[in-house]
Amino acid sequence: MTITASQLYNYIVCPHRVWRDIYGPVAEKINEPNPFVQMLWDKGVQHEKKVVEGMKVLDLSAGSKEDRFKQTVEAMKQGVDWIYQGVLIEGDLLGIPDLLKKMPDNHYIPVDVKSGMGLEGVDEENEEKGRPKKHYAAQLCLYVEALQNLDFAKDNKAKVIDIQGGEVDYNLDEAMGKRTPMTWWEYYQQIKYEVQKLLENREQNKPAMAGACKLCPWYNSCKQWAQAEHDLTNIFYLGRTKRDKINDDLGIERVEDLLKIDLEEIKERKAKNKQFLSGVGEKTLAKIMIRADILVNNKGPVVYDKIIFPEVTYELFFDIEDDPTQDFVYLHGVYERNNDTGGERFLDFTAKECTPKGEEEAWAGFWAYIHSLPPKDFAVYYYSPHEKTVYKKMQKLYPKVVTKEEVDDFYDSPNVIDLYQIVLKSTDWPLSSYGIKAIAVYLGFSWRDESPSGALSIQWYNDYLNTQDEKILKRILEYNEDDCKATMVVKDGIEKITKENENKGS
Ligand code: SF4
Repeated sequence: MTITASQLYNYIVCPHRVWRDIYGPVAEKINEPNPFVQMLWDKGVQHEKKVVEGMKVLDLSAGSKEDRFKQTVEAMKQGVDWIYQGVLIEGDLLGIPDLLKKMPDNHYIPVDVKSGMGLEGVDEENEEKGRPKKHYAAQLCLYVEALQNLDFAKDNKAKVIDIQGGEVDYNLDEAMGKRTPMTWWEYYQQIKYEVQKLLENREQNKPAMAGACKLCPWYNSCKQWAQAEHDLTNIFYLGRTKRDKINDDLGIERVEDLLKIDLEEIKERKAKNKQFLSGVGEKTLAKIMIRADILVNNKGPVVYDKIIFPEVTYELFFDIEDDPTQDFVYLHGVYERNNDTGGERFLDFTAKECTPKGEEEAWAGFWAYIHSLPPKDFAVYYYSPHEKTVYKKMQKLYPKVVTKEEVDDFYDSPNVIDLYQIVLKSTDWPLSSYGIKAIAVYLGFSWRDESPSGALSIQWYNDYLNTQDEKILKRILEYNEDDCKATMVVKDGIEKITKENENKGS
């Protein structure tokens, strides 16, 4: 059965997707494309067009795949320098690299145009050069293999033209990482073998609820399956790998059956056999069992520690909205509660244009507001380490707004609190997700928007930039305000449970 680069991509995102796309219940698949995914796709196409516009290429983007394949082979025989959207068909491989580039030795290498960074893990401060992205590398390997089998390539080499327009080399014979000696080429061969088995239905695998599911057309279908089967991935933080290990080594498939585990017996078996439940430590197992108990027995949320929040006049519930596709922060939202007056208000610092000036002004507005508050008499709550990471990056971009020391001091302050860390370390909930939306909804909060999502907010912002429609901007601000309020609801919820615990104990 034909194997394509996008199937490799899907397999890397979710190993089940490949099988479900062919053998899954078609009626349960969402047909209309997710607007955010569509926006990413459109942006990718636009970026590709922009890159190719400035090049002298042979455009083979039109026609049937078979005709384009013939034309691609002919063009390579004639030594055309750049071929755009050529088709490679060889054995069971089918690949359409964005570009094929003729090298000085007359061989060809595939070049993919990507609207993201070419490498991941680049850290200039720590002089980390970054490493290839798994899904880029796997797709490029498929093109290289097809080219080699057609006698148009000899080396395991390829390139990516990234969002900045630079050519990034992908040496596919290199080890995947410092601690992963397997080369990209070996990795490709391994996942290609797995994908082939799934495509031919020689092997089946199960859905596993994870972050990627929300953007997948099978989301409702897989969620329904996971709930009906009481699958272990209904437990927060229990992903596919651990689920599969527990399924295989303990024969446990349903959440309720986790409650029968004898931890002492498992400890003994682990001591005798290192492979037994490898990757699932005893602490993790104990945590999973507690979460299973809360889910199965419909218990309420649990706060394990005595959480003491700062007593201050101003409480700020803070959330940013940013577009990672263009590394741009367009909104800093704050829901302010004044504990003296009981007053509440929402403040937004929004970039009305997608330019460095717009981004800097919005950020400067946020800091001017922070500076206007009485020092030491305010606390800031946010939900996820993302805000901190983004602010450190912004400081480098706009050092005139605030100094590095100030950003560091801000986040080091005991009054600036990542609530998600408290949720993770000190609480448990009868929920499959501990995301802000799941917990706030559990606590009775509802968003005004009918489909609230950070991904959609990015799409709305892009629509706003194109249309300048104030109604769209209002939707973005309402959504962000509700996110900020949800953070307040979670903080208050944790505080309430802590107090109830104290009362029970006293
Ligand atoms: S919904 Fe999740 S588990 Fe199902 S195919 Fe999509 S990514 Fe995989």
